[in-house]
Amino acid sequence: MRNPYIKTDKVIAYLSKQYAKLFRRVTSFDELNVISVSHEIYDEALKITEQEATRLVKAVYDSYRETGEITAADAHSFTVALMAAYNPTTKYIYRNELDRKRSRFAEGVISSDTPREEVELAKRLLIAMNKQFADDATFEALIKAFADDGVKRVRWVTAVDDKRCKECKSRHHKIYSIDNVPPKPHLHCRCYIEKVEE
Ligand SMILES: [Zn+2]
Repeated sequence: MRNPYIKTDKVIAYLSKQYAKLFRRVTSFDELNVISVSHEIYDEALKITEQEATRLVKAVYDSYRETGEITAADAHSFTVALMAAYNPTTKYIYRNELDRKRSRFAEGVISSDTPREEVELAKRLLIAMNKQFADDATFEALIKAFADDGVKRVRWVTAVDDKRCKECKSRHHKIYSIDNVPPKPHLHCRCYIEKVEE
């Protein structure tokens, strides 16, 4: 079976570029400007991520589901729900963490003697957070496609590319009930699941 993260990497590359552009809006470091621009950047980032993640969910779902596809509206609801749910791997709720990142970014830039470095740091952290979200959305869309197809059991496949998960080796080819697929055991895990033909 093909690796479901190929599309994910394209989305991540696109999002990373868009975020980099957003942070160029920070042109002065006075408090009022930083606070207002921080809201602009993170609100816009949320919008872009929601839109691209919705497309990603639909693409992954449609390419794995055998007996139908997901509507754009349902893919959007699914994505929004993921953003509002606690993620046991990252240990946060995406929406809340995004808000915390915005506050920390504003505080850091306002308080630091090297505000330009704080901007770079915030950019890197936002890119990493959304990389993780794209991975998680891919995995969740895969589970949903199988579940909606009536698949009962799935097999864990440990990623074997350059992103190989050492931590996940013991899970390789383990079988799980579709209702009971365990969360990714660590950040940046690129494992996936395939269906067990009954
Ligand atoms: Zn893994």
